[in-house]
Amino acid sequence: MTSVASRVRCDIDFDRPGRQAGYLRAPHSRNTSGWGVVEIPIYVFKNGTGPTLLLTGGVHGDEYEGQIAVSRLAQTLKLEDLSGRLILIPALNLPAALNATRISPIDGRDINRCFPGNAAGSFSEMLAHYIANFIVPLADAAVDLHTAGHSADCTPSTNMHYVDDAALRARTMAAASAFAAPYNVVFWGVDEGATLTSTVERRNTLCLGTEIGGWGRVSVEGVRLGERGVRNMLKHLGMLTGVPETVQRDSTPGTRHMMVRDPAAYSFAPVNAIFEPRHVAGEPVQKGQTAGFLHFIEDVDHPQQEVQYGASGILWMAAGPGRVQRGDCVAVVMQDYAEPTA
Ligand code: CA
Repeated sequence: MTSVASRVRCDIDFDRPGRQAGYLRAPHSRNTSGWGVVEIPIYVFKNGTGPTLLLTGGVHGDEYEGQIAVSRLAQTLKLEDLSGRLILIPALNLPAALNATRISPIDGRDINRCFPGNAAGSFSEMLAHYIANFIVPLADAAVDLHTAGHSADCTPSTNMHYVDDAALRARTMAAASAFAAPYNVVFWGVDEGATLTSTVERRNTLCLGTEIGGWGRVSVEGVRLGERGVRNMLKHLGMLTGVPETVQRDSTPGTRHMMVRDPAAYSFAPVNAIFEPRHVAGEPVQKGQTAGFLHFIEDVDHPQQEVQYGASGILWMAAGPGRVQRGDCVAVVMQDYAEPTA
């Protein structure tokens, strides 16, 4: 355990066998209480011997499927069925989760761009620092459950960064196959260094993310895949008995491994407008095909403006918020995974 001081307090003993349910208490001075705290639910199950799995939801507050799946697991898992230690934080960014926003209403920060954090920083930085220094080091494996939030809809998938360590990469892809979303996306990422998953990976610890919903609502299928996936992970790690259920809705036997490597896979809005997407997530699309049209309803007779796909593949992320700003990502295309050649 690190000796770095944190202002966050937790009364759970992570080494104690049994089921513990409590709170991370993160100080938040406010007009009504200078000594106030934000209480963030955390559960720890420890039984027998086995690895430690960390499951987090609600790193982005407007992504509900992971919050539901992790919370339900915490309330339904029988301690005696478990071998190992399970750490569950259903809504890590609780202020954002209660506000139904991606960004924290306390400091205006995306906590998933604050890692590895700063003990003396803003609320999100302080919380990220605690997670990075006091929770992540306990884990042998981690799954951080996300969706596309309000910004897009997604093809239900797990995801992982392309990690250089070939053995870790293979273990991570095997874990993704066990989680058994329809797709697993290996990606090289945009602005990824400050995320929770990057922090886990830097410790050479197995780490998966998910994208199992979006458009700011609760996806029925996303919740189903999330709940199945976290139990599949426990089975894959030998923490629950049984084998993962990997059959997909279309009766394919497992997960299709994909990648987003080409920067051209991302399409951006060149200007503020209404974005009208032409496809839904999961559809095959072609490079040069119309991704959508930008509409300028504030102007008389202003022609629509086309946005094209920069790569061929399957639409992973499809824009959803209606109004977009210049620089917003409006489409991400994934392609079948291939090991990069030197
Ligand atoms: Ca997210």
